[in-house]
Amino acid sequence: MDLSIIIPIYNEEMNLPTLYARLSAMLDALPLQAEVILVNDGSADRSLTIIRELAARDPRVHFITFSRNFGHQIAITAGLDLSRGAAVVVMDGDLQDPPELIPSLYAKLHEGYEVVYAKRRSRQGESAIKKFTAKVFYRLLARITSVNIPLDTGDFRIVSRKVVEALKRMPEQNKFIRGQISWIGYRQTFLEFDRSERGGGTPGYTYGKLIRLALDGITSFSDLPLRVASVTGFVVSGIAFLVMMYAIYARFFLKNYGAGWPSTIVSVLFLGGVQLMCIGVIGEYIARLGANTRQRPLYIIDETDMPAPTPYTPHPSA
Ligand code: UDP
Ligand code: MG
Repeated sequence: MDLSIIIPIYNEEMNLPTLYARLSAMLDALPLQAEVILVNDGSADRSLTIIRELAARDPRVHFITFSRNFGHQIAITAGLDLSRGAAVVVMDGDLQDPPELIPSLYAKLHEGYEVVYAKRRSRQGESAIKKFTAKVFYRLLARITSVNIPLDTGDFRIVSRKVVEALKRMPEQNKFIRGQISWIGYRQTFLEFDRSERGGGTPGYTYGKLIRLALDGITSFSDLPLRVASVTGFVVSGIAFLVMMYAIYARFFLKNYGAGWPSTIVSVLFLGGVQLMCIGVIGEYIARLGANTRQRPLYIIDETDMPAPTPYTPHPSA
């Protein structure tokens, strides 16, 4: 199998026929052995019926169907897990990502890259608010994370089998696949395309789902919000300590104070400072806990002349 094409489908009954027509025309002209994996993410419309018909009619088409709506990122993950191609394309099923770009993506991948993402030169038919929030979010994310998540891209891209296998080793619960793929590394490049309007139907990505995706992106690739909490904790309690010293000095040496003021201010500042510091310490532990519960592998080895490590087995006498 040369190529797998993974398409998450959530209520796309209006787009599936055109999507299939354009995909099969593209694949007919491509001398490759390919499979199309349609992942039905709990659609409430006739999408599943159409998908089953397509799979029955065309041996290249396969389907995975979920028990309910798990979300776009999980649907892609399921497709990646079951895909068999040496190269794998991920694209949307709403005709915003043109199937006609796939041959160019495939050709570019074979120029010696492991990832070729499709970068949006323009975006049609999307609200100004959505474009603006996406722009701000990805630029913010780029500033506060250590991985370079490419700007103006979605999940439309082609990756090699190596990258798919690395992704499979990242069992985190909150998926942010475009971030994970950047994190994996290897030689990555991009091709530009003009993103068209959604074919028909309404976006399945509600603002709620988008906000969740944004939070997943930040929390799985940045500890900055936690760091900010602990640093301000230490700074504020440092200032509080100085003011406390002054209050004690004013009480005992300057003898210049309102009755009750030094004791009140000292206890308030002391308690506030201790609390902030404790919250900061807890934040540091949570950051490390977060990193560990993610269970992300520590590294991705490309090649080695060493044998694979044998799994740890406890000493027989232990
Ligand atoms: N999608 C999905 N599950 C969802 C929401 C969306 O599988 O819960 C699919 C949808 O069918 C489409 C792709 O994800 O193929 C992108 O969704 P959408 O067009 O709504 O997102 P947008 O283009 O507005 O970001
Ligand atoms: Mg869309």
